[in-house]
Amino acid sequence: MEQSDLDQNKTIFCDIDGVLFRFESDFAISMNHARPLPGSAERTMHWHKKGYRIILVTGRPEAFRERTQKQLQRLGFIYDQLVMGCGSGPRHLINDVESYSEQKAYAHNVIRNKGLASLATGEWGSSL
Ligand SMILES: [Mg+2]
Repeated sequence: MEQSDLDQNKTIFCDIDGVLFRFESDFAISMNHARPLPGSAERTMHWHKKGYRIILVTGRPEAFRERTQKQLQRLGFIYDQLVMGCGSGPRHLINDVESYSEQKAYAHNVIRNKGLASLATGEWGSSL
């Protein structure tokens, strides 16, 4: 099976503020003046071209869905789904495996406002 075929079954869950957009401590600034972090929109396009399903996950309230979608579109972000209203605390991804030798759930912390550049190195980042 080609690597590209495998990628089509993969999913990326990605936070918005602090990862794709610059995190602002003032929520009004985030909503009115979203600033993309360098290379982040390009990275979502890269994932899309590789066949990944992209699910953006954010603590932004559901009431700001339309505004958030417009920001993402205007700034050139590619994604499949937008999950809103998550808390600001830790996020966990749980998935089943056929045996414990297999790994099908990963988590990656990136430094706030450093964007996805820190994924450029390391075993997982180099494949994305
Ligand atoms: Mg965030």
